[in-house]
Amino acid sequence: MKIILVTGGNRGIGFEICRQLDNLGHTVILGSRELGKGLAAAALLSKNVVVKQLDVTSEESIQNLYESIKTDFGKIDVLINNAGIGSNALDKKETLAGGVKNVFKANMPGVWKTVKTAVPVLRKVGIIAQKEGAKDVSISSVKQIMETNFYGTWRMIQVFLPLLQKSKEGRIINVSSGMGELQSLTGDSPAYSLSKSSLNALTIMFSNELKGRGISVNAMCPGWVKTDMGGPDAPRYVGQGADTAVWLATEKEIPTGKFYRDRQEIEW
Ligand code: NAP
Repeated sequence: MKIILVTGGNRGIGFEICRQLDNLGHTVILGSRELGKGLAAAALLSKNVVVKQLDVTSEESIQNLYESIKTDFGKIDVLINNAGIGSNALDKKETLAGGVKNVFKANMPGVWKTVKTAVPVLRKVGIIAQKEGAKDVSISSVKQIMETNFYGTWRMIQVFLPLLQKSKEGRIINVSSGMGELQSLTGDSPAYSLSKSSLNALTIMFSNELKGRGISVNAMCPGWVKTDMGGPDAPRYVGQGADTAVWLATEKEIPTGKFYRDRQEIEW
């Protein structure tokens, strides 16, 4: 059985990855930005799940986790870099539109629901402007998303490499997205897409750097999944979204330097 660290394990796809790995009998270390939320989530899982505070944007938090796992376990076999944010998680107070949206959501949910349904239609017929593209996006929001999705993952890999090297066969799995596929990049969700293209590049970089050192590095896309990030209209359930990451973590032999969806290799 393996020791597997999952970042952003308190909800969404990360929680489902923890749940499936726990069911398979592995020791799961569930990283959660807020310890209380992690403990509440883990109450639904077995006693083998260990909850640890982890904010991937904080070097101190990552270092504390490293020391604690080093003392308690001495190694990890798999690191699943799942923690991520989309533009919907940014500080909405930053923009006027975001502020207005929050007021409606909190005080007039009915009106908010109607507006939410009408906006894509009005956008299609050109009555309101198209979504913010690469030419308009605020660079500060790009930096915020990169900080979690890209630099956060990079920090995690750097710090946890010594513990992965203690494993007979270490694995790093980066939860990416088809929105980062180079061939289909558009100005849609530019900050998020860029963070995932960069994450894919990091996957290739580390897989080559670590070749011959017993550590594989792969990326996977969960598809469009019903979570807080994916929203209720997404066609997939968390079980499907988590499946490929669990498969990459537990399959007997896996290659390195690949990008997967539904257990099949896909283009970068
Ligand atoms: P989600 O429901 O919004 O959950 C995101 C998780 O990441 C939460 O546990 C959140 O913790 C955690 N997180 C955010 N910032 C963090 C930080 N700085 N440090 C540690 N944890 C942090 O999102 P999801 O849909 O499950 O997405 C999980 C992964 O799948 C992401 O990498 C996402 O980009 C990718 N993905 C999702 C979809 C989709 O359709 N849902 C599609 C493609 C790829 P808090 O609870 O503390 O906020």
